[in-house]
This record gives sequence, structure tokens and C-alpha cells, in this order.
Amino acid sequence: MHSDCLFCKIASGAFSTEFLVETENLVAFRDINPAAPTHVLVIPKRHIPSLARLGPEDQHLMGEIMLAVKQIAEQEGLDEGFRVVVNTGPDGGQSVNHLHFHLLGGRSLQWPPG
Ligand code: 5GP
Ligand code: ZN
Repeated sequence: MHSDCLFCKIASGAFSTEFLVETENLVAFRDINPAAPTHVLVIPKRHIPSLARLGPEDQHLMGEIMLAVKQIAEQEGLDEGFRVVVNTGPDGGQSVNHLHFHLLGGRSLQWPPG
């Protein structure tokens, strides 16, 4: 855990955040500033700064995260569809430097994003 990382602290349970899913390797929780009726963040427990810093050892973890996204989309009743976003780096608009997958749904989403 990186002691100065917000999402490491959330993953460790430091803020008693409600988890929609928790496994040995990941947690999912609702975004504090939702951009859609369903806005969930799925993160690895291990500190990975961004998608640009993935290594070959993360292959299984990334599959686990995608399956968790699918499971949460089902739980949330997103039968009409949803979007998964991974903002990466300054140009990608990443504001928290701990890898996270946004799951957005519950309304019709526009494309392309800004
Ligand atoms: P990014 O901009 O890095 O792709 O996404 C970071 C997300 O984390 C934003 O959507 C923001 O609302 C969310 N966020 C920031 N701080 C907190 C927090 O303390 N708790 C929760 N649940 N979400 C947060
Ligand atoms: Zn972290």
C-alpha cells in the first residue's frame, strides 16, 4: 500500500467505504461524484499507477477486473448497456494515480467524450 494514495486507503478499508464487490485482488465502490445514475469504480487492491504501467504479470488481474465489471453491470440492471472508461495520464484526464475502471450506466451516454 502507498500511504499517500487515496485509492490504496479506500481499498484497505480505511474509510469504511461500502464495497459492491471485494475479492482478494480488487474492490468496487461508488464514485463520490457520479457522472451517471450508476457510476462505480473497480480497482486493483495492489497499487498500479495507471494502465500505462501494466506488466505481463497483470494479465490475470485485468481479466478478473473485467469480469467484476460485467457482474456489477448485471447487479445494477444495466440491461440497455453501459460504458467502461480508464482515464490514463494527463491527456486522458486521470486525476487519481491508482488504476481504476469507471463503470457508467443508467442513462444514454454521449459519444465522443470531450
Ligand atoms: P479519474 O479522473 O482519475 O479518471 O477518476 C477519479 C474518480 O475518483 C473521479 O470520478 C472522482 O469523482 C472519484 N473520487 C475521487 N475521490 C474519491 C473518494 O474519496 N471516494 C470515491 N468514492 N470516489 C472518489
Ligand atoms: Zn494506490
